[in-house]
Amino acid sequence: MASQITPQPGIMDIDLYVGGASHLDGVANVLKLSSNENPLGPSPAAKEAFSRAVHDLHRYPSTDHAALRTAIGEVWSLDPARVICGVGSDEVLHLMCQAFAGPGDEVIHTEHGFALYRISTLAAGATPVEVPETDRMVDVDAILAAANEKTKLVFIANPANPTGTFLGADEVQRLADGLPAHCILVLDGAYAEYVDGYDGGLSLIEARENVVMTRTFSKIYGLGGMRVGWGYGPQFVIDVLTRIRGPFNMSSAALAAAEAAVRDADYFAKCQSENARWREWLSSALAALGVPSDTSTANFILARFGSEAEAVACNDALKAAGIIVRHPANYGFPQCLRITVGDESACRRIAHTVGQFKGQTT
Ligand SMILES: *Cc1c(COP(=O)(O)O)cnc(C)c1O
Repeated sequence: MASQITPQPGIMDIDLYVGGASHLDGVANVLKLSSNENPLGPSPAAKEAFSRAVHDLHRYPSTDHAALRTAIGEVWSLDPARVICGVGSDEVLHLMCQAFAGPGDEVIHTEHGFALYRISTLAAGATPVEVPETDRMVDVDAILAAANEKTKLVFIANPANPTGTFLGADEVQRLADGLPAHCILVLDGAYAEYVDGYDGGLSLIEARENVVMTRTFSKIYGLGGMRVGWGYGPQFVIDVLTRIRGPFNMSSAALAAAEAAVRDADYFAKCQSENARWREWLSSALAALGVPSDTSTANFILARFGSEAEAVACNDALKAAGIIVRHPANYGFPQCLRITVGDESACRRIAHTVGQFKGQTT
């Protein structure tokens, strides 16, 4: 290593983010179920909007994202002035850390929480604090016990990833009520749209000063490749984030595709109901084969095997069949496989392959 040039403290403690694998050596048509992508892809209207954007590639995009914020406001019945759009919800989570946490501050995430919370905390120079979960659920009392005068942010995903579990509105409210007044609760709603009747925490945000939510177009809207997410919260928080985001962070194609996607209510409803149907089918089929999972509220299930060795062996069997799922050992689940709910044929292939695997081993 050269010299006296050193990055800011904390940065070299960051482990690189590992995304879901997307290819297998020697397999041409892999079935990728490792990144919770929508098997149906985006709305046809979103693809059309993307194609139209080709005519204006020489123009700078909108800097205030007004058209997309207006569409989001109409669809979700919220104030568009308090929406911030980001390059994936990742960027919004990152901006939260950059704006509200720094050296000497603490940021809480839970035991099996999303890797990005720790990465963004360290990138801001703050200290990540990991809190235990109870039976693969966010534990409000454990978070409240860890919160102190240094705590600036608390991140929870609801539904959670990789567990798929859901924390009820009363518990989320109890958490928001119990945190110190200088601390913001960030509700990561990457999978919120999969939960029937859930507002992503909107009513809590409207009633309080210390709650922010993030949402994404990468999951139910099928636009992971476009990188669009958004955040919603108190006006002063959004104003702070807007000051530090890149003025042209969103491409014109991404803005156009997302706006069309959020306005396509019929396609959204279809994706929601297909996912619910095949999630139920897949979890029941695997449970019948002796592979249980918690009730998932998202677009994946966390299948639990008898041991790490069995999970690894089943993962190998799936790979041999051309199927990629996630082995979430780095999330504290070496004995599990996280399987994205695909379409009907994908779910049937999973059940078939796991069935064969179980037949060989028992
Ligand atoms: C997928 C996911 C996101 C979304 O990230 P984007 O940057 O919007 O693609 C955020 N949080 C969790 C927990 C996720 O699983």
